[in-house]
Order: sequence, then C-alpha cells, then structure tokens
Amino acid sequence: MADNENSIRCRYCGQRNQIRIDSSDARCGRCRLPLSDEPHKKFARLDKEQYIHPADARALAALRAIPGIDTALKKLLAVTGESAIRVIFTASAVKVTPTQCPDLYAKLQIACTTLGVDMPELFVQQNPVVNAFTGGVERPVIVLYSQLIERLSDDEVLAVVAHEVGHIHAEHVLYLTAARLIEFLAKTAVLASPLAFIIKEVLTMSMRAALLAWARKAELSCDRAALLVTQNANVIGRTMMKLSGGTFASRVDYDQFLAQARDFQKNYDEKALDRFWADVITSGLSHPFPVWRVSEILQWVESGEYKALMTSPESAAA
Ligand SMILES: [Zn+2]
Ligand SMILES: [Zn+2]
Repeated sequence: MADNENSIRCRYCGQRNQIRIDSSDARCGRCRLPLSDEPHKKFARLDKEQYIHPADARALAALRAIPGIDTALKKLLAVTGESAIRVIFTASAVKVTPTQCPDLYAKLQIACTTLGVDMPELFVQQNPVVNAFTGGVERPVIVLYSQLIERLSDDEVLAVVAHEVGHIHAEHVLYLTAARLIEFLAKTAVLASPLAFIIKEVLTMSMRAALLAWARKAELSCDRAALLVTQNANVIGRTMMKLSGGTFASRVDYDQFLAQARDFQKNYDEKALDRFWADVITSGLSHPFPVWRVSEILQWVESGEYKALMTSPESAAA
C-alpha cells in the first residue's frame, strides 16, 4: 500500500478497497456504493411482521377472505406455469451473474444478506420505463428495467433491488405475480390471448380487484424493507423523487419534494384516504404515487418503529 493510500473495507459487501487518502466520494470497486466508516446492519432473523405496513396487512386479510381465492390462484398458476411466467418476464433480458454486471450482482447480494433471503435470479431488461418487478411461483426472479439503472445512482439502484428482495422476504411473490399478470394483460394488446381468457375464467372480478388493491399497498411494506437495507431515508426519498419527477431529477429540489410529501400526509382524513386509494386503483398505476410513498416512509421513521428495529437484538453490525 502506498503512503498516500488507505485500506477501507466496504460496509455493504465486505470488499477491501485501497483508496487515496485525499479522495472524497470514494466508491467500492465491487458494489460501487460509497465507502464510509459507518457500520451497516445485517438482520440475523427478520420477521416480516416487524415491518409490514398495516394497510398491506389489512388488504391481504381482505384478499385471503375471498372464498376460493387460493384455489383460483393455484389453478391460474398451474395453467400459466413457472416456465411461462419466466418467459413472459425474462424474454430478451440479460441475466446478472458474478461476472455479468458484477456491481448489480453485488447489490443483490447485499440486499439478500441484509434481509436474510436466498439469492433469486436477477435480470436486466431493455425498457424505457424506470421500474422493476419480481415474479415467479416456486423460484422468484427480479427484473430491473435498463432505464432504471441508467437514471438512478448506485445507492438508489440498491434501494430498488432491496425493495424487490423485500417482496420475496414478505412472501408477496405469488399474489404479486398474479396481480402483475392481470396488469400486463390489461395494458397489452393480447386481451384475446389464451392467457387473458384463463385469467377471466379463473379469477372473478372481485378477486382481480382485491389483488390489484392489495398489490399497491404491498409496495409500502417493501419501501420499508428498502430502508432496512439502505439505512438512509434520503436514499429512498431521492429514488421516489426520480420516479415521480422523471429524468430531470437533478433540477428538482429534494427539500421541497420532502415538504410536498409532508403536506400530502397532513391533508387527508380516513375518508380522503379511501378515495385516494380508489383513484390510484382506477388510474391504472401499478404502484402508488411516489409522493405518498415518501410520506409513508417519513412517517415510519418519525414513529420510532424504524429505529427500534435497527437497534433490536436481531440486527447486528456487519
Ligand atoms: Zn462494496
Ligand atoms: Zn414493488
């Protein structure tokens, strides 16, 4: 090691890095996340009940209470099958491995080791939308759209990967896959396909509506999982700002965006909240509005629940 170099271990992935003493903004050579002396917590035993959003829990209970829902989903997924789902979700995508997009692979490993989840397969798919999703039946896969990687910083990409790993940890994948299949068919010109026919045949209108209503609320739980991995609420906030402001995020003021999120939280009562969810559902969005997601994360941090979880005996410094 040269005199003007320092050895620093990456708090996220554990890689040793030699950096120049005078370098500010040093990044890990493996995962590309910023290097710092702060510890990074990994959870030895994280129970999903410790972070699940109450709106997610309520919507899931409502969904499960629909008679025949599990049988219907099993029927649907038996027909569509794991392989069909994988073809739909991963066609023309690049598989991430330790040697293909190694920094993305490292980020996936960080999210999985922090939350305590087995490594799923990860793909990058050419797509102009800033988004990602998780699907599958027995073996989940995560797909990141190329635009997301191009537009987000490395810690923001970690936040998105961690959100998707959160869906696996929270055991959302089966229901989420069904919800995404419904959305996929609603948006594309394959309404006359056999798959669309099967969905209409197997899932009643109320099952489909309950699945979509739950899927949006499930996002709030996974934003919390993302915070448990990034351990920085501003990373979640900035990611949401980019999702909401599009690609000109550098010109959007983050503090004002936070103020907007706080305003949003202040200006509703329970009735307005119900109307809001109805609007979200009818608007055809697959995710709740980013400003709402930020206000939810801020509220979770301010409630003290996040801090309690971070200092619980189940979390240990890496
Ligand atoms: Zn690293
Ligand atoms: Zn999600």
